[in-house]
Amino acid sequence: MATSSFNKKSLGKDSAEPAVTPPPVPPDTTFVKKPKPPSRKSRKRDIPEGLWRKCPKCGTMVFDKELDENLKVCSHCQHHFPIGARERINSLVETCTFEEMDAGMTSVDVLSFTGVASYISKLEDYQKSTGLKDAVLTGICKIGEHRAALGVMDFAFLGGSMGSVVGEKLTRLIEKATEKALPLIIISTSGGARMYEGMFSLMQMAKTCAALAYHAKARLPYLSVLTHPTTAGVMASYASVGDLIIAEPGAMIGFAGPRVIKDTTQAELPPGFQTAEFLLDKGLIDAIVPRKEMKPRLIEYMNYLSNGRT
Ligand SMILES: [Zn+2]
Repeated sequence: MATSSFNKKSLGKDSAEPAVTPPPVPPDTTFVKKPKPPSRKSRKRDIPEGLWRKCPKCGTMVFDKELDENLKVCSHCQHHFPIGARERINSLVETCTFEEMDAGMTSVDVLSFTGVASYISKLEDYQKSTGLKDAVLTGICKIGEHRAALGVMDFAFLGGSMGSVVGEKLTRLIEKATEKALPLIIISTSGGARMYEGMFSLMQMAKTCAALAYHAKARLPYLSVLTHPTTAGVMASYASVGDLIIAEPGAMIGFAGPRVIKDTTQAELPPGFQTAEFLLDKGLIDAIVPRKEMKPRLIEYMNYLSNGRT
């Protein structure tokens, strides 16, 4: 009947119970606690974490092992996932030829930086989680027939930020390359200068570039490889002064972030702004090289630039 259904509705009931006035609510009672419905998470099938990863570009669930075998590149859409410094070195150098330099170098808390956590405890956390001492690995290695000085950054260590250790290790690597007359390859990924070391981080920009000037004066080749993301103080120093500047597909490359630029210039940014593809078109970078082709291409470039020297 129309009346009873109206009553049921007005009482907020959906059962077949007769419509009655509810008993008065005691003054100290607010809501009756209902058992919570099972959360979305607990209803999910129990997939052990770390076995599958969702590709941010094509949305495909990618098997971790498959991703590792493919140098962390999605086999469906060729999206380049971040790759660790050690893994990248293994993908580039001849087996057992990487002689690491300054392996134990670590930062000191020169500014006695205090924030949510102390700088030293932050460093210790990242050292534990990445197995690295800081955000770069440097050493002398063999790539194809070429002996080369190689520096590889790792974004997983404090956003690949450049503090005094990154700057010093790279400067020593560049100086070693100059001394031994070796080609130099630096593979960058960085959020910029490390704020925990203030001015000491910024000084690394000039220091690395000064060492590179001597390397260039000795007419030795420097290949700079930009990977996602390479920004700020690193892009504004050693990463952008290579004889050849190469980037991985889709890498974000720039100085300030797009929002800051948009607010400052009050202009709409063109599509694809700050991507490797956009910068290739504008002439800032010389080539885009997929990760799996990186080794043969680096050898090819060294052959060309070394003028027959190995
Ligand atoms: Zn994909």
